[in-house]
Amino acid sequence: MARYTGPVCKLCRREGEKLFLKGERCMSPKCSLERKRNYPPGMHGRMAQFRGRRPTDYSRQLREKQKARRIYGVLERQFHRYFREAERKPGLTGENLLIMLESRLDNVIYRLKLADSRAQARQLVQHGHFLLNGRRTNIPSLLVRPGDRITVREGSRRRPYFKERIKYLDEGAVPGWLSLDAEALEAKVLKSPTREDIDMTINEQLIVEYYSR
Ligand code: SF4
Repeated sequence: MARYTGPVCKLCRREGEKLFLKGERCMSPKCSLERKRNYPPGMHGRMAQFRGRRPTDYSRQLREKQKARRIYGVLERQFHRYFREAERKPGLTGENLLIMLESRLDNVIYRLKLADSRAQARQLVQHGHFLLNGRRTNIPSLLVRPGDRITVREGSRRRPYFKERIKYLDEGAVPGWLSLDAEALEAKVLKSPTREDIDMTINEQLIVEYYSR
């Protein structure tokens, strides 16, 4: 499974906003965007700030697509596949796309606060620390469905990571479409997420326009 392995703060700088890709550091003054490096990366990045060109429709669409892709840690080909599938589903394509991304198992682990970032959640899933409906899984891109049960594997519960993590879990802070039993390290998918459950500033309409060119 391919994934982006380059410097992630550059991605935030490119999009000009925090994408929260690094866990705790994103909340600290060490964040690149807090340290006055809030200009695009690259040799001419600083200059680009002063050129003041108006973005074209295409560049706005492209940036929005890239932003969504980077937030969820999905590469281009897979993102395009999600889009095609979202088109085939009934309802609004943009919303369908975001709902599919939000339903990824690695995102659910992140939303439950079992990981500090989606990248960390992805790694935990790949290392087989979770059971989905009682079966061990190591596929971060699995899409969860209403009624699914996600548990931390018995052997993994004894690991220092989860012993420490359990202290900071907050059952009241998980999104309304999920429920968490922090003591048992068990979560349930109550319903499919809706657009209102996705609290990110993504303009999905621009993504639809990008792929409809
Ligand atoms: Fe983005 Fe987090 Fe890096 Fe800040 S610390 S630039 S929010 S990845």
